[in-house]
Amino acid sequence: HLSPRLKAVLQFIPKSRCLADIGSDHAHLPCRAIQDGRALRAIAGEVRSGPFHQSTSNVAALGFQRYIDVRLGDGLDVIREPGEADAVVIAGMGGELITDILERGKAKINKETALILQPNIREASVRKWLNENSWTIINEAIVEEPPHIYEIILARKETAARKLSELELKMGPILSIRKELVFLKKWKRREQRLIRILQALGQAEQTAELARKREESERELRLIRVC
Ligand code: SAM
Repeated sequence: HLSPRLKAVLQFIPKSRCLADIGSDHAHLPCRAIQDGRALRAIAGEVRSGPFHQSTSNVAALGFQRYIDVRLGDGLDVIREPGEADAVVIAGMGGELITDILERGKAKINKETALILQPNIREASVRKWLNENSWTIINEAIVEEPPHIYEIILARKETAARKLSELELKMGPILSIRKELVFLKKWKRREQRLIRILQALGQAEQTAELARKREESERELRLIRVC
């Protein structure tokens, strides 16, 4: 059974010829994508040998060896030639690790690729990378899996990608328009946390470092309140 987070990731995968799930861990996602007929075949990529072997036996237990190729390797290196995968999922990692994988594997993804990204933290760095590399965010989702709230981004490469604002990079160009309940909850939580930080900073002895932290928190608070 997939968690609400992975279910939301699954729903963002378009019908594809070949799905690459990078950092697949147990290969649960590609197995489900094959079962559901979302992908005709899949690559489960893993950099660590433990999860790689686990994925291999999970795929075999379902008898899916013909459809899912489990590959040991770093990031997009497991995609053998550009365009081999027409849908690429990178989920359950920090935003900086996701952008690092995309940056190093740029040559393997192109106009035919749907990118489905689910950063656990630092979503803004993922959106910034996409925006700077001509990828357009075409859909976003936000799901709660207590105590966490996760965001999922679907992007495609387009020539004329519009430059996103600071608010859009932080909160999401689509999520910030839709303003769903979970979205409001996430940012209310963040607002309250920033207020507590600022209160604590107000009581602390003033140093250059704390002044900078205060400035940063105030700036973030203003941005959140605009939305
Ligand atoms: N994608 C799954 C999910 O969303 O539930 C698993 C997430 S798990 C927290 C992150 C996985 O990514 C780990 O299994 C880890 O070994 C793998 N990983 C980390 N860096 C990687 C890289 N550079 N290339 C491939 N896999 C990587």
